[in-house]
Amino acid sequence: MRDPDCIFCKIVAGELPATIVDEDERTLSFMDIAPATRGHALVVPREHTPDLLSIDADDLAAVGVATQRLARLVKDRLGADGVNLLNSCGAVAFQTVFHYHVHVIPRYEGEPVRLPWVPAPGDPGEIAAAAQELAGK
Ligand code: 5GP
Ligand code: ZN
Repeated sequence: MRDPDCIFCKIVAGELPATIVDEDERTLSFMDIAPATRGHALVVPREHTPDLLSIDADDLAAVGVATQRLARLVKDRLGADGVNLLNSCGAVAFQTVFHYHVHVIPRYEGEPVRLPWVPAPGDPGEIAAAAQELAGK
């Protein structure tokens, strides 16, 4: 299945250019056109699906395995010191392309990428209340 208006479907179909670095039966990995760091790539399922909530479990697993492959490659071939994986689910969570994808972001000592929040201890009551709702209690 594909979405005729989706840029990542067009990349998968070879109708839009992309710099492909890895592929298998279910996934394609290509360079992000606006990289956060050197070697920033995106892993997508070949099948169109908007986001984490909708992706087929086998495609999700295949993307997971492909992200591990890419993470190993950026360490082995680009000399990355670490890797961040990022998936944005929903516009409020920064998603801009609505074809499921995972960012593989190589990390290098000394570069200025920062977390989008400031880690600080949370209110224990609030944490427990959210946990109860999550667990359906
Ligand atoms: P999101 O914001 O949805 O998590 O990530 C979308 C990513 O796709 C962005 O990092 C953006 O730079 C990248 N992107 C958008 N359009 C294109 C494109 O046409 N080609 C490639 N290679 N990357 C794209
Ligand atoms: Zn698509």
